[in-house]
Amino acid sequence: MITNELLRALPKSDIHCHLDGSLRLGTLIELAKERDVNLPSYTDEGLKELVFKKTYRDLPDYLHGFGYTCGVMTDAEALERISYELAQDCLAEGVTYLEVRFAPQLHVRPGLDVAGVLSAVDRGLDRARREDEASVQVSQGRPPFRYGIIASAMRMFTPGFAPYYADFMRVLPQWPTKEVYGLASLSLARAVVDARDRLGIPVVGFDLAGAEAGFPADDHTAAFDFAQEHFLKKTVHAGEAYGPESIFQALTSLHADRIGHGTHLFAANAVTADPDPARYVHQLSEYVADRRITLEVCITSNMQTMPQLRKVEDHPLGKMLQNRLSVTLCTDNRLVSSTTVTEELAKARDAFSISSVDLRNMVLHGFKRSFYPGTYRDKRAYVRQVIDWYDKVSADHGLPIVERGQ
Ligand SMILES: [Zn+2]
Repeated sequence: MITNELLRALPKSDIHCHLDGSLRLGTLIELAKERDVNLPSYTDEGLKELVFKKTYRDLPDYLHGFGYTCGVMTDAEALERISYELAQDCLAEGVTYLEVRFAPQLHVRPGLDVAGVLSAVDRGLDRARREDEASVQVSQGRPPFRYGIIASAMRMFTPGFAPYYADFMRVLPQWPTKEVYGLASLSLARAVVDARDRLGIPVVGFDLAGAEAGFPADDHTAAFDFAQEHFLKKTVHAGEAYGPESIFQALTSLHADRIGHGTHLFAANAVTADPDPARYVHQLSEYVADRRITLEVCITSNMQTMPQLRKVEDHPLGKMLQNRLSVTLCTDNRLVSSTTVTEELAKARDAFSISSVDLRNMVLHGFKRSFYPGTYRDKRAYVRQVIDWYDKVSADHGLPIVERGQ
């Protein structure tokens, strides 16, 4: 039986986790007080009632809280602390591999450039890594904490997003906005490749986030071409708020190695350009399956932003598993979605009567398709250790060791 205790004890990854959506509530309150940032409440209960709720009216309601979290993430000290605590929270529930993503340009301020933002986050995560390396659990064979950083470009922005974006729009007044979005993305790609190659910061991936409908991936091809040419891996938020064609664009125009969400992969009714939507969706999903494009599925977050999903059973995860897609479960936002990887796995188990084979595949896909920040040989050794530990923990909890792989 797949118990909650087993889910908690298993080694897990979280490869779709936004830093600015995953703060500790107490830390947000403390930093806001120190930095004179206005919050609608200064207690855990108050903020949970007003901002960080279990359910949301719609996407804008869901996104509301990011204004507060980003409001305190404006200096290196805050970024380092939040990153350190996130790593600790991951380890506390058995997440030993984390790929954390954020839009560095949102946090740029005078005296703090993109490299400074990335360095601060890296310092926090690395401190947690070093502490974990010396822990009893690691000495007993549990895979050690490893992490990579994913830089998110924004599909669109307004001057209100952050001073960096306001400056960008101010100095390019005659430019069509979609070209300004593309330039900002390219500027980020250049900055993060430089930070990786010159400073050794483990930036492992490039992402595209933000409003999907009306803001196509094609505006950002130059940035993703640059990432591709510099061996930076790509994951793209697609098929979250827009149909299968958005996933197609992410794969073809942006060279996506993984897809963030992909919830609408099978939504033939959302196909607009192809005369045979059913065939299009079939071919697209077969391509995704065969190329082992991993879908970073975030059930709770989807339930909170997609009113058409009334219960977890309505989520396409079941169909993704039936079609043998490479799927791994992620939190999206630990604070804003009020969840953990353990809870996401428990939701999937309850709604789709997940078998021990499905569970093992979902957990291991997160590690195997990670953008691991070391050599391929290092990655293989790490994944091997994860698999051995997974099978040991499974056996300790009375779940038979799976013979059949994926
Ligand atoms: Zn996301």
